[in-house]
Amino acid sequence: MADIVSSTDRIAASITQAIVERRLMPGTRLAEQQLADIYGVSRTLVRQALNQLSRHRLVTLTPARGACVAEPSVEEARQVFELRKMLESSLLAQLCSTITPAQIRQLREHLKLEREALKRTDVPGRTRLLADFHVLLARLHGNEVLAETLADLLSRCSLIALMYQSSHSAAESQAEHEAIVNALQARDKRALMKLLDNHLGNVEANLKLEPRAPDLAAALKAA
Ligand SMILES: [Zn+2]
Repeated sequence: MADIVSSTDRIAASITQAIVERRLMPGTRLAEQQLADIYGVSRTLVRQALNQLSRHRLVTLTPARGACVAEPSVEEARQVFELRKMLESSLLAQLCSTITPAQIRQLREHLKLEREALKRTDVPGRTRLLADFHVLLARLHGNEVLAETLADLLSRCSLIALMYQSSHSAAESQAEHEAIVNALQARDKRALMKLLDNHLGNVEANLKLEPRAPDLAAALKAA
């Protein structure tokens, strides 16, 4: 039983990572047999993993098409960002009074990894690290449930960024993370709240929150 659970988790984690690193596009078909071959497991395990991912809203299951990478709606995108703002502003407000020098060093280590990934133009790596920054803040606060919830929301944000073509650059996000850590170190709560608002607001504002509909007329005119 433990093996079954760990295989299901392993497949779900691998697909989630591909989504976080933006290697899997929204709407991509996830064929059970193909996944079973890739992971060298039974279709039953694959189906369990896909069920798990659909509960986290990363995969959509429909009788007609089977499993596909989810395509979050505009409304869902807005709600995900709204929830992130609620959770992360209260997280940062609390961290601001409890943060220790050792934790600041841990955050600085993480920022260094982000900068290095940016310099290498390692796109999957930097995308994952930029998301992990937010999860790390929750871990430092010592709330594992919050860390898991944020990790789920961050995965959904990756899909949202792909769906709505976020133009907020990785370099801008990275610079904003540096400023957040500086404000934490200075225990400047007011600056911190402004920075977070700006950071999440920038990402959201740079999404083109209109579904990407193919322009049929333009496509046919060209032909
Ligand atoms: Zn960020």
